[in-house]
Amino acid sequence: MIEIENDSAVNTTPPRNQWQAMRRGLAQKCPACGDSALFSSYLKVHDTCPTCKEELHHQRADDAPPYITIFIVGHIIIPGILILEKVYAPATWIHYVIWLPLMLILSLTILPRIKGLFVGLQWALGMHGFDKKAAPDPFELATIPDPLHK
Ligand SMILES: [Zn+2]
Repeated sequence: MIEIENDSAVNTTPPRNQWQAMRRGLAQKCPACGDSALFSSYLKVHDTCPTCKEELHHQRADDAPPYITIFIVGHIIIPGILILEKVYAPATWIHYVIWLPLMLILSLTILPRIKGLFVGLQWALGMHGFDKKAAPDPFELATIPDPLHK
């Protein structure tokens, strides 16, 4: 009998709870321990967790959080504008007074939470270098400074 060696289980980090990591990210907490703040400032992710020392600099949320934030805010604001216009037909300045601040507040509130959610998901899935036992992330390698061109 031929025995097939399966290295995939040995060369990867044990499975992580994706929902728990996403919930912790949504709460803007470290996806690994859930104790420390994920962000050092408004949208700047800590390089390492101050509590559990988990490396968080691997995150590559990029454009996904703003895209999802625009999607959510748009689906709240646009029906509100249409309903208000259909029911009361107020002056245009009233629309500006209501919807512009609401849009700003919702966007600024939702954006870091969505970014946290994506960082948590990337951490749980072992993406972009979060899986320490996997092959190095090519994007991470591309950011290593070239010693010949200082
Ligand atoms: Zn932590």
